[in-house]
Amino acid sequence: MASTYSECLSPKMRLPKRNLIVVIGTTGVGKSKLSVALARVLNGEVINGDSMQMYRGLDTITNKHPIPERYSIPHHLLGHITDRLSEYGLPQFEREAAKVVDDIHRSAKVPILVGGTHYYIQSFLIRNMTVASSEPRDLTEEEAKFLDECDTSALFAKLKGVDPLIASKFHPRDRRKLRRALEICWTTGRKASQIYADQKQHDQNQEVDIARYRTLVFWVWCKPEALNLRLHSRVDDMMNKGNLLDEVQEMSKLYLNLDPLPDIDRGIWQAIGFKEFLPYIESGKDEDREKGLQDMKRATVKYATTQVRWIRRKWLVAAAEAGNDVTTVLLDASDLSKWDEKVEQPAIEIAKEFLSGQEIPRSLRVPDGLEDMVQPAQEKDNSSTPDNWRHYACDICIGDGEKFVCVGEERWKVHLRSRRHRQTLKHINERAAFERWKASRD
Ligand SMILES: [Zn+2]
Repeated sequence: MASTYSECLSPKMRLPKRNLIVVIGTTGVGKSKLSVALARVLNGEVINGDSMQMYRGLDTITNKHPIPERYSIPHHLLGHITDRLSEYGLPQFEREAAKVVDDIHRSAKVPILVGGTHYYIQSFLIRNMTVASSEPRDLTEEEAKFLDECDTSALFAKLKGVDPLIASKFHPRDRRKLRRALEICWTTGRKASQIYADQKQHDQNQEVDIARYRTLVFWVWCKPEALNLRLHSRVDDMMNKGNLLDEVQEMSKLYLNLDPLPDIDRGIWQAIGFKEFLPYIESGKDEDREKGLQDMKRATVKYATTQVRWIRRKWLVAAAEAGNDVTTVLLDASDLSKWDEKVEQPAIEIAKEFLSGQEIPRSLRVPDGLEDMVQPAQEKDNSSTPDNWRHYACDICIGDGEKFVCVGEERWKVHLRSRRHRQTLKHINERAAFERWKASRD
């Protein structure tokens, strides 16, 4: 880990980057199908980047690609977590994925990372760094271990101690930036904020996003109207042909025996369908079954919407900052009867060009008429005015056990009006209803 960073710090020493192909997109859009098709043609192996599919078993509720449709292509990080009570996290994913990619490269094959947990994938692919002016030392083993393994909140606390100014500038949950800033402080022996300020003065403020690999990203996209229909019928299929209810039953046996009941928004319990069907598993009433079905469809559609928003607001912005090492190609999977023509064949051709070292022409990156989809929704940069660095914590928007924090009053106002905040309010009400149901069982 440490040596990779120091390579980045002195650009002269940077080695040519290795290739990685990535498939992103919403649930139910055909990512797995495309990744297997690519792997078969390109001598590739697939790496799973969906956090729910890392859990063993529960193949229906976590939407694992059926084994016959994998055509014997090796799949990594798929179903490798055997303990359902364990909470898999980002640092673990980054470590495991890096190792698997190395192994696949060593066997002269092409790694293909596919998944829907886009923040895992983005953190893994792109790191934030600043070209430091002084000659840095390597991180000690202890420091590297801390950066890799500690909680984001601990990173924030540590950075606050070392360089309070820079800590106030970054979002307390922006692990990448916090980690990078701490690393700069440790390896240069100076405050990162001072280094940034110096650089600004020298008019060479080079805070940039750096890609870990030479990366080709296929974003498989489908018009919402078409996708929602597909998602609804997939949920119906999971009920009628799959083991959905058996799996919920199996999960509920473990879940309901735990005291206290685990947080439904963590670990495997987040799998869409579990919370929704739990009341039916208990009551056996038809009306609960029907309600579970409708709730699951709604939650699935909502999740897909969130995934697209992430890609547009986060991924495209970070990818643009990472420059030529990252190419995103949008594929239109709205019409399944044109899958070969519009998704699979173009992807294979483009991947071949990419692997032969060529740059992918802009004209091939976006289908006609979808140009708007790939305009990154750039967030306003308020980092240069310290007055705007005040932190506002939202009492109701909680992610990973911590309050959502906005930096600056402008963003806070935007947050209060945001869909997220309003949805959280709605979610709280729904959840309260669920808790009332839970309490009423006794
Ligand atoms: Zn909020």
